[in-house]
Amino acid sequence: MVDLNDIKKNIAVQDCIKKFNITDEKLSSIPVMRVLTRFIKTFTYCDKEEPLVNCKQIIPGIQEWLTFENGNFYIVSKKCKHWEFENPYHLIEKYVLYSEFNLITKEIDIAHYIKKLNQEKNIDEQRKHFLKTFIETKDKKGIYLWGSIGAGKTYLLKLCAVYYLKKEKTVTFISIGGLAKSIKDSFASDENKSNLNKCYKADILFLDDLGCEQETDWFKDEILLPLLSFRYENKLLTYFSSNYSIEQLNSKWSAKRKNDLVPVNRLIDRIKALGKESEIKGNSRRY
Ligand SMILES: [Zn+2]
Repeated sequence: MVDLNDIKKNIAVQDCIKKFNITDEKLSSIPVMRVLTRFIKTFTYCDKEEPLVNCKQIIPGIQEWLTFENGNFYIVSKKCKHWEFENPYHLIEKYVLYSEFNLITKEIDIAHYIKKLNQEKNIDEQRKHFLKTFIETKDKKGIYLWGSIGAGKTYLLKLCAVYYLKKEKTVTFISIGGLAKSIKDSFASDENKSNLNKCYKADILFLDDLGCEQETDWFKDEILLPLLSFRYENKLLTYFSSNYSIEQLNSKWSAKRKNDLVPVNRLIDRIKALGKESEIKGNSRRY
């Protein structure tokens, strides 16, 4: 059998000692020594962050590791550093509470995007302005991003979402239409499985396509207003996208409710308080 000091030099053993407060006495027991001796003989540690082709494991990307349960060690497998190198965003995926599409792709990264914009000959001032606004207001206030269909609003908000995911903030990214549908569907089934609670819970909420057709008065008064009030009162960051400016949205909503503008005014106030208005023009050609 291997010497106790050699065993304690092994990184997986060290990891377990720390995690499970394992004493030398426990380590020196015969069944434990037997498992650890066998483990150390075949152990290969991937310690370099480099492409998977350099991985020396039997199954590339997977390496052996240890766990401790009921007084003994067990050999388990886990993703190695090579796999992590190839999948840089796997650690942030768990912070997505809900999203209608995949937020995490290799191309989406705000630093890369700024670099790309700077390299372009036709300088896109509006996108730069949006990113400047984001950098100035992030962690303090959300953004109300508006502009024509196809201007790339959703893409820009995805960049912001990934920024927060990397800061280990939970994110819900949902369209108004998607939220309205999920609430409707949850009425049809007995269980309350709508995504609304994920809109309350998320550190950062992205509400896509405000002002769309699915907003009934009921949805605005009973769903949107309480949600936005909660987020405002609890200082939870909220981002919006819309085809309309806040003023246009106000007119659109008010036109339908000549007699009672109080709920619309309150909703507009909440939106203004949560999101700094930012306009984006142009088409999706270059984003
Ligand atoms: Zn490896």
